Amino acid sequence: MSIHGFMTHATTIIAYTYEADYHCVACARKRFAIKRTGTVNVDCNDIPIEQQDCEGNTIGVIFATDPDETIHCGDCHGLIYDFD
Ligand SMILES: [Zn+2]
Repeated sequence: MSIHGFMTHATTIIAYTYEADYHCVACARKRFAIKRTGTVNVDCNDIPIEQQDCEGNTIGVIFATDPDETIHCGDCHGLIYDFD
């Protein structure tokens, strides 16, 4: 898979939810990204979305069309989605 610049469409993952907060793709990758082995399901960002966070919750996925509010990353505090 190659990256063709920053484009958002309905199936673009813009954030993840775990540990009761939103997290941008970059921070989620730093935390969870793994090498594809063929035995673990990972999404297009190499995030093993069936894995659980430290609270026992499965990692949630936020698509570009999902947010109904402005959201920021709980780790780097960067703007993930500007609802205004
Ligand atoms: Zn972040």
